[in-house]
Amino acid sequence: MTARTFYSLPELPYGYKDLEPHISEEQLKIHHDKHHQAYVTGANGILEKLDKARKEGADLDMKAVLKELSFNIGGHILHTLFWANMAPKGGGKPSGLLASSIEKEFGGFDRFRKEFTQAAVSAEGSAWAALSFCMQTNRPIIMQIEKHNVNVFPSFRILMVLDVWEHAYYLDYKNLRANFVEAFWNIVNWAEVNRRLESLIK
Ligand code: MN
Repeated sequence: MTARTFYSLPELPYGYKDLEPHISEEQLKIHHDKHHQAYVTGANGILEKLDKARKEGADLDMKAVLKELSFNIGGHILHTLFWANMAPKGGGKPSGLLASSIEKEFGGFDRFRKEFTQAAVSAEGSAWAALSFCMQTNRPIIMQIEKHNVNVFPSFRILMVLDVWEHAYYLDYKNLRANFVEAFWNIVNWAEVNRRLESLIK
């Protein structure tokens, strides 16, 4: 049998200072190196715990183990998507298929931006706002994700996410989440979000 594969922390596709002034070096570094790393370490730890219990024939509290596994894998996947849907020279408006898809669903970019902003600002506690895509209807749909729970709509694909956990913005914006959400629009990597959408359409 080949060796097991584990999760690993991806490098950021830009430098720690490159999203300033919207996200500071200190904020981005702690978010990536500490918080995201903790989810990677957590997920791998549970996989090892499962391996060990299987080898030993030991019992596990499956409910607790799977909840913790889902939390950590979800955190890892969402942060990986999040880093890549931002870019130092981002912002502006989308183009291509994404632009037409947003136009068709929301009636215009400004309406989409308003709804996504409200989703991000109003999400309760530790949460995410996500632009997702329904594979059954070919429609983009905004959703809120509690903690890291990405099991809400299993067939949906995620096009863009915004982390609104306090750990994502507190050093820079304190309790002013709405200011962080507003700043996010200056660093959206629309080319990457569009690439994700195009990869889904056959
Ligand atoms: Mn985070």
